[in-house]
Amino acid sequence: MSFTSIDQKQGMLWLNGQFIDWSDAKIHALSTHSLHYSGAVFEGIKAYNGKIFKAKQHIDRLLHSAEVFSLQLDYSATEIIDACYETMHQNNLQNCYIRPLIWGQSTTTKIGAKVTPNILISAWEPNALISKPNNVILSSWVKAPGNSYAYHAKSSGNYSNILLSLREAQQQNYDDALMLDWRGYIAELSSSNLFFVKKGELYTPITDCFLNGITRQTVIEIAQKEQLAVQERHITLDDLKQFDECFATGTACGIINVASVTTTEEKYDFPAQQITSIIQSKYKKLVRKDA
Ligand code: PMP
Repeated sequence: MSFTSIDQKQGMLWLNGQFIDWSDAKIHALSTHSLHYSGAVFEGIKAYNGKIFKAKQHIDRLLHSAEVFSLQLDYSATEIIDACYETMHQNNLQNCYIRPLIWGQSTTTKIGAKVTPNILISAWEPNALISKPNNVILSSWVKAPGNSYAYHAKSSGNYSNILLSLREAQQQNYDDALMLDWRGYIAELSSSNLFFVKKGELYTPITDCFLNGITRQTVIEIAQKEQLAVQERHITLDDLKQFDECFATGTACGIINVASVTTTEEKYDFPAQQITSIIQSKYKKLVRKDA
């Protein structure tokens, strides 16, 4: 498959209630407040066989994120879901990644400038470029406490700390970065949540200073249906020795095996995938059935 840069794709984008040509999505660098000071909010959603998986949860999270950053929109959740479907139809897509993005536009470059929200909805066929966090390295950056950032909001601001970690990992040829929180507990990867398996039981960190992903919540539901125990608790690096399996969860990547975690002192390998495979296959079925 040949690669097309995201700005060169062909198709239609939904901008503030109207469809525009893909090539007409242009903004001014100086009036885009969110480009300078963060505060843009967005979603990463997937549709399978023409149906959007967990559409309501994603759009509710989008609207919640917008509210947290005072980006009040005139659209209801239903209208935005409809717009996502229309964007899929306009672009003849059945299986796609959908990216709604809301950002603030201002008339000055002052940080406290009043901003006008804009909403853009795009959809495209996911390509093979989505990275698979197989071998991850411990980041030297940590997550700040839950009262220093609104982790329940999916906003661009959250990604500056993440980007530092990811760049650091990439410079050392790792697929992804594992971040600890400010207390030293394991938090998450750059854009996915973590699960560990020990003797058939699942363990996942408490989401008090990182995003509680929709895929993470779905995995907990799947595990409960499968009568697999799930423990949400604080997990330390020292605990890694006891785990047999490790996997990451996220809308873009789905459920993927984490083969190893490397720290300055040690490398932890997770060659087993028995429970991971069960969760993977249940998730694959669910996204197609339950979308
Ligand atoms: N954490 C971060 C920082 C993310 O960017 C994502 C991807 N949205 C996730 C976790 C997983 O969230 P979800 O399962 O809702 O895609």
